[in-house]
Amino acid sequence: MTETPPPGFRRRDLLSLIGVAAGSGAMYQAMTSLGFAHSSDYGGPIKLEGDPNGASVLVLGAGLAGMTAAIELRQAGYRVRVLEYNSRAGGRNWSLRGGDSFIELGGATQTCAFDKGLYLNPGPWRIPYHHNAILDYCKRFGVALEPFTQLNHNAFIHASDAFGGKPQRIRSVKADFQGQVAELLAKTTAKGRLDETVTVEDQEILLEAMRDWGALDKDYTYGAGLVSAESRGYAKDPGGGVGAAPTPGAPIALSDLLRSGVWRALGNFAGYEFQTTLMQPVGGMGMIGQAFATRVADIITYNAKVTRIQQSETAVTVAWEDAAHPGAVQTESADWCVCTIPLSILSQIPIDVGPKMQAAIAAVPYAASVKIGLQFKRRFWEEDEAIYGGISYTDLPIQTIGYPQSGFHGEKGVLLGAYMFGPNAFEFTAMSPEERIRRALDYGGRIHPQYAAEFQNGIAVAWHRVPFTLGCAGDWTDETRAAHYDDLCQIDGRVVLAGEHASYLPAWQEGAVLSALDAITRLHRRVIAT
Ligand SMILES: Cc1cc2nc3c(=O)[nH]c(=O)nc-3n(C[C@H](O)[C@H](O)[C@H](O)COP(=O)(O)OP(=O)(O)OC[C@H]3O[C@@H](n4cnc5c(N)ncnc54)[C@H](O)[C@@H]3O)c2cc1C
Repeated sequence: MTETPPPGFRRRDLLSLIGVAAGSGAMYQAMTSLGFAHSSDYGGPIKLEGDPNGASVLVLGAGLAGMTAAIELRQAGYRVRVLEYNSRAGGRNWSLRGGDSFIELGGATQTCAFDKGLYLNPGPWRIPYHHNAILDYCKRFGVALEPFTQLNHNAFIHASDAFGGKPQRIRSVKADFQGQVAELLAKTTAKGRLDETVTVEDQEILLEAMRDWGALDKDYTYGAGLVSAESRGYAKDPGGGVGAAPTPGAPIALSDLLRSGVWRALGNFAGYEFQTTLMQPVGGMGMIGQAFATRVADIITYNAKVTRIQQSETAVTVAWEDAAHPGAVQTESADWCVCTIPLSILSQIPIDVGPKMQAAIAAVPYAASVKIGLQFKRRFWEEDEAIYGGISYTDLPIQTIGYPQSGFHGEKGVLLGAYMFGPNAFEFTAMSPEERIRRALDYGGRIHPQYAAEFQNGIAVAWHRVPFTLGCAGDWTDETRAAHYDDLCQIDGRVVLAGEHASYLPAWQEGAVLSALDAITRLHRRVIAT
């Protein structure tokens, strides 16, 4: 889910290079071998066969994992109760709209001032076409979807120290990089340097393919002309009538492209999870959580902050406080427990599980991330720059600017004015919300100078300060996975954990749903067996 790479050459940069030079197929191969990309293994709606004989289950947390578990277990005949810290369901599946208030850790309170119909998804915002489980639930629960444009060729890639700080259209960066790499390969082929690896017959086809793929002219050269303009766009677009002939522009030199680092951002369009088609729910990602919640509203206790999880041979007992009126401790018991509380919080709650699961719960740090929504009184990105949906990437601390994916030509709009990870996210998390917004306006104004005149209001969510997750998502490494993942996913007595952290699709809703389906399938098997 993380995107614009920070400075310095890292494994992700290698993947970007492989992706932009050799295409997404090669990138996916490389990612798989490095343990990054994982597709969903959803096998269709689960069938929990066999009578649980009135067994009861306590589900902790009403995010997508918790609600998936609750819906399916109840359907299978269990008596289910859900304890949820927030006064709403959905967890990280959340949309902020005008009038919503949000208190972050440290006490700063923000009240969203967006106009009616506008929203920010502070957490999830896009769903890849191969996230079959979440898409299937959307279909079954009637959540309307619309396209999410990841790659808008007319959005920007911006490098603060290159091209005089002027943002470049993704279209020309992509075409110029691809064209010049194609030219290099064509020249190498023509000089016979590939004779040992590619047959003579295939070299002829390769040359033809490079001309096609890289928009090369008849001499296998990528340069200013109408051929390259078909890919990179024109200095003057074709028109009608007198003087309508188009004028091609000059490509950016390969050396300038390489040194600027703008090629890095191209990797954000190559990865398996960012390939067409992506989707978003109409009206905000929170529509999914709401659709789930209508199916379990009667069994959720809201404002229930779990403070202790105990188990015996025969039952699980959970202590909780009213989050709105802390103090009085209440308890709830059941035969079994599915706990979906994020590990960042669960690691601070006393829980009766064995040392291996304890160690696993404590082993996973949570990634930092910040999202900032900015309302503008005019959709200048559409009116002035013809950017309809999609994403611009920059090496400034804000890293990302996301444009509304629908409502084109409306009056106002909310931009995702920053979406950051890593050190930038830590830095912004330490600021007050007002300061985060001020900085987002300063930085974003270098890409869109209209910011200063058009800004109306904003809201900033720093995930390490979100009290119900204390971080963006579980940040596994190959080492922590090898040491702890299997222990985390075991059923320990009467307790099983679920959530995105218990999946190989961390930081995706698909991971949360698949993990819940897997946990309850195994739990059900055990219940039926006993
Ligand atoms: C910035 C960001 C961007 C993302 N982008 C995407 C994206 O584009 N697409 C995508 O599919 N996914 C994305 N994700 C990931 C996605 O949001 C998560 O993987 C998924 O929502 C996690 O669901 P969950 O049920 O495991 O956890 P959660 O949604 O966190 O649910 C856990 C629940 O436990 C509750 N809880 C916590 N503590 C307690 C307690 N003490 N007592 C009781 N209840 C408690 C919480 O309130 C919450 O409701 C993104 C996440 C973030 C933060």
